[in-house]
Amino acid sequence: MQGSNTDYLLAVENLTVSFDGFKAVSDLNLYVDEKDIRVIIGPNGAGKTTLLDLICGKTKASEGSIKFRNRELTKMSESQIVLAGVGRKFQTPSIYDDLTVFENLEISYPKGRTVFGALTFLRDRAVIDRVEEISEIIFLKDMLNKRGEYLSHGQKQWLEIGMLLIQDPDLLMLDEPVAGMSVSERLKTAELLNRITSDRSVIVIEHDMKFVEDIARTVTVLHQGKILSEGTMDHVKNDPKVIEVYLGH
Ligand code: ADP
Ligand code: MG
Repeated sequence: MQGSNTDYLLAVENLTVSFDGFKAVSDLNLYVDEKDIRVIIGPNGAGKTTLLDLICGKTKASEGSIKFRNRELTKMSESQIVLAGVGRKFQTPSIYDDLTVFENLEISYPKGRTVFGALTFLRDRAVIDRVEEISEIIFLKDMLNKRGEYLSHGQKQWLEIGMLLIQDPDLLMLDEPVAGMSVSERLKTAELLNRITSDRSVIVIEHDMKFVEDIARTVTVLHQGKILSEGTMDHVKNDPKVIEVYLGH
């Protein structure tokens, strides 16, 4: 298969990374469709975050291939991977506390994308429209003039998702997005993710099983850098191997 073309949005094949001989991700294959939500679960240390680090180019693979729209990501820099259409959110929100919601979104708007060139007033209108559109998706439309420091933890997480969405990635990767959120914020986040996959794919790492049930179509269970189980939520929930190493605890 390696070297051949694929219809998958993302095709990870034989991916391995060794840290001083320890394989945090080991000979892993993972395929994600267009407009899919893939949830990755697994015990601490399973290699979930490392997998995202490999896809976004933060960590370099020791072996294997990561194809995104048939482009080999393992040979690209982090910034090239962002430009190729892969957005990644880390566990802790990194918004600007002293900027407003509007300004946080505005500075994330991709520069040089506009067709209007020097006609700045038209470009400004396009940016404002896009900021308003995104703020609605992330439940912050009424808070555009609030400074980041006054947002709740959950609202900060949404704002950071918005800062990625404004760049219109084809693949968005989120590492434990609902950690620390209230129950109602978790429900709204599930709604948010279901909405944004009408035209993009999302990979979510999550521990909260209720949240996983709300969003997952396919669940991948990682254990010791390898796939332990994969399938629908029902399938993995009833898989004895998964119960033994993860859900049983
Ligand atoms: P998870 O996100 O599933 O909890 P991680 O991907 O963070 O797990 O870590 C997987 C394993 O790889 C852990 O044992 C961790 O200590 C190790 N690891 C991750 N990054 C590095 C690194 N840069 N150097 C050495 N070991 C690492
Ligand atoms: Mg992790």
